[in-house]
Amino acid sequence: MSDDLRDLYQEVILDHNRRPRNFGPLSDANRHAVGHNPLCGDRIQVHLRVEDGRVQGIRFEGAGCAISTASASLMTEALRGKTVEEAHTLFHGFHELVTRGEGDPADLGKLAVFTGVREFPIRVKCATLAWHTLEAALAQKDQPVSTE
Ligand code: ZN
Repeated sequence: MSDDLRDLYQEVILDHNRRPRNFGPLSDANRHAVGHNPLCGDRIQVHLRVEDGRVQGIRFEGAGCAISTASASLMTEALRGKTVEEAHTLFHGFHELVTRGEGDPADLGKLAVFTGVREFPIRVKCATLAWHTLEAALAQKDQPVSTE
């Protein structure tokens, strides 16, 4: 990876950490999951509205390091409007990229900014926390929407 590309990736991560997208509760969510990375202290909640096999809404809450927050923020941007199948495919592609450096970063769009994380094994858990939490939420049955 060139220094220019590394700087660009770093800038995107810092930007999403400073101004996380889709942060906060999701009033009409029908699936939720909580994730915790004890190695770093990252905690995240993912809220989803899944309808007709498609991610119609996705937001997150929580607190963690820059990598975990930026990863959750970029994940919500990448997944909105995607089918559940496409969400699983992105999860696997992202996981391969950050754990093994395999796959084509071009397939992952902005998620490619995490390419360098593989060089810091302890940070891989920070980068994948949101995605594991997403998978847990997708595995749930739909829940009744709370009116409160
Ligand atoms: Zn972390």
